[in-house]
Amino acid sequence: MITSTAWRGKRYAVLGLARSGLATVRALAAAGADVVAWDSNEKARDALSPSLRLRGEGRGEEGVDGASHVPLSPQAEREIVLADPVEIDLSGFAGVAVSPGVPLNTHPIAAKAAAAGVPIIGDIELFAEGRAEMPAHRVVGITGTNGKSTTTALIHHIVEAAGIPARLGGNIGLPILGQDPLPEGGVYVLELSSYQIDLTHSLDCDVAVLLNVTPDHLDRYANFDAYAASKARLFAMQRPGHAAVIGIGDAPSAGIAAQVAATGRGADLTRIAPGACLDQSRWPALQGPHNAQNALAAIAACKALGIPRDAIDRGLESFPGLPHRMERVATKRGVLFVNDSKATNADSAAPALSAYPKVHWILGGKAKTNDLDACRPGFPHVVKAYTIGEAGEMFARLLEGEMPVERSGTLAAAVRSAAAQAQPGETVLLSPACASFDQFKDYEARGQAFRDAVEALG
Ligand code: ADP
Repeated sequence: MITSTAWRGKRYAVLGLARSGLATVRALAAAGADVVAWDSNEKARDALSPSLRLRGEGRGEEGVDGASHVPLSPQAEREIVLADPVEIDLSGFAGVAVSPGVPLNTHPIAAKAAAAGVPIIGDIELFAEGRAEMPAHRVVGITGTNGKSTTTALIHHIVEAAGIPARLGGNIGLPILGQDPLPEGGVYVLELSSYQIDLTHSLDCDVAVLLNVTPDHLDRYANFDAYAASKARLFAMQRPGHAAVIGIGDAPSAGIAAQVAATGRGADLTRIAPGACLDQSRWPALQGPHNAQNALAAIAACKALGIPRDAIDRGLESFPGLPHRMERVATKRGVLFVNDSKATNADSAAPALSAYPKVHWILGGKAKTNDLDACRPGFPHVVKAYTIGEAGEMFARLLEGEMPVERSGTLAAAVRSAAAQAQPGETVLLSPACASFDQFKDYEARGQAFRDAVEALG
């Protein structure tokens, strides 16, 4: 667990008790802070309650999450109170730690905390505060609209493959405050959504990476400029001399790179230009132009960490990729099966179509838009399309005339049909360009159903 003596005896509210919120409560309590915890969802509150009962029975050595048996420090004999921070007097609180899922643009906690002069923070800010007491280490922070998880996992993999202790955290993997501090020389690799950056005020990344900024999450920001400005803060928090890696394939990101250079940090800055010609043939999990950009950003970040080029090459080659993102599931009778279930809109499906020369494309689900224009550059790669789910009929009508189309209805039927028709050397690709909720619990369940259907082919 990561904690700070600076929190001892102070009062904090924690709003949102999913995994990172629970880890935050635990870390603050272990440091000897008084914590008011809340979640509007009763089930989420219940996740904390058993530990309250345990503590009530005098089992102070039991962690806040009773099941995890995390030993608390002696200072931790403090109260954890379940109460909604919107309803209580916040004066004197050191901070309100909110989950990145809380929409600060509409939630009353923002005005309430502001009126009490209490900062709104997140677990990444608490991590930043804890850094002074951790063994000497470095932090890499990665943000961007698309490619964050891939690039974060890739950098983490290269660092570990180079023999350096590393931890993955932020928007990926386990909550960072719940993980044990690394020994001296370690590297924390943090995926940071714009919401998490909004809740962070003092994280000085040794290496900060911005991949791209395209319109997204506009329900949470006043406008696109405000969303882009949130990403820019990652660099504003850095001390001069610390490295900045910025993809300049879109105007807002290029603008942020220009801002960083204008503050006299030109020497710290590596710009990743779009369309770089790169030999990706030895990186099976990093195919497609978008992964060229992710790989270049990871290479620049790892160079900034001082990792030698041959170690970086080894990491790129051995990177297994993330599940559900152009994940190579199997090769059967010379046909490659690829699970790109995470591609939940046309923009994120486009790179996969372009990554393989002859594609049997399974698409459909719950549509987010009524066009597939973003995928058009990949159309010449498609041998045949197999449509499924709620959007199946609409997509079939859109694509007829452009390519052969089969209305398969279900994922299992589409896999069977595509597998029967694909020739050796061709690819059966699930890249649905849709949300999954019409037929599946989430994109992960959809990806697993694809794996199962491929497995069932025998
Ligand atoms: P994030 O964590 O930012 O959502 P992921 O690495 O999970 O990103 O990738 C999500 C989807 O976005 C993938 O399906 C992939 O096709 C697409 N993608 C990945 N990297 C990029 C990139 N650099 N630019 C544009 N799209 C990308």
